[in-house]
Amino acid sequence: MRGAAPDESHRSEPRSSRSPKRLESLPAADVARAVSRRLRAWYRHHGRDLPWRHIRDPYQILVSELMLQQTQVSRVLEFYDSFVERFPTLHDVARARPGQVREAWQGLGYYARATNLHRLARVVTRDGGDARLPADPAALRKLPGIGAYTAGAVASFAYERRAALVDTNVARVLARIFDPARERRTAGDLRALWRIAEAILPRRGDVAWTHNQALIELGATVCTARVRRCEICPASPWCARLAADRAATTREARAGRGRRVRRKGGSPRGFRGIRRST
Ligand code: SF4
Repeated sequence: MRGAAPDESHRSEPRSSRSPKRLESLPAADVARAVSRRLRAWYRHHGRDLPWRHIRDPYQILVSELMLQQTQVSRVLEFYDSFVERFPTLHDVARARPGQVREAWQGLGYYARATNLHRLARVVTRDGGDARLPADPAALRKLPGIGAYTAGAVASFAYERRAALVDTNVARVLARIFDPARERRTAGDLRALWRIAEAILPRRGDVAWTHNQALIELGATVCTARVRRCEICPASPWCARLAADRAATTREARAGRGRRVRRKGGSPRGFRGIRRST
């Protein structure tokens, strides 16, 4: 992994309130494989070198994911190392007072995350044992402060389980590539995007790890909410949003040519006829 990319990434569990309005079609298996292969190859060269991408410790992965919620990567980098140095394990968090955990979180904002982490640590360490976070996304979701995205992220990034994940950035990327109408993100859209995320997920968990990181990276650096860098995007050959944009540009260019001809007093048909004959 190399290079510093614009820091526009932050995790958030996508929200929606409306109900589904349409049926989706899932990507064909050969398309899913091709997109994933291209994304993973791109990520290996362009993914940012971030500390939580070098570890598999479930607790430290969870800390990184909680910190990244609603927070830019550059900001999290200022806090992550010092937090895990002060609280290297879930036991250390559980033994601390809630105020001490919040104090170490001071400056990152959204302090409910620190409170939830402390509550989670107390729950997981309550019965003694090795106090490891579960690897199963369904079991993870039962813990305080863990939603569907975070459960998938811990299962995939810590345990290399074959687990899908859809945060706001990934939802945007999947919608643009496979079904741009889903970018509205109603409740039905989100369910459809989760199904797409499952459908394109590689079979092996370690390969899915890279695939998931690549989707996150693409949404953070290439296909952001504000900017689409389609000219350098590895998904461009399959991207429905880009194809729609190109079709619209072509239609506008044809309409523009027609308007210019009419202003000159001719007709588009006559103009095209003259061009063909020269
Ligand atoms: S081709 Fe453009 S719109 Fe499509 S995923 Fe890439 S950056 Fe986003």
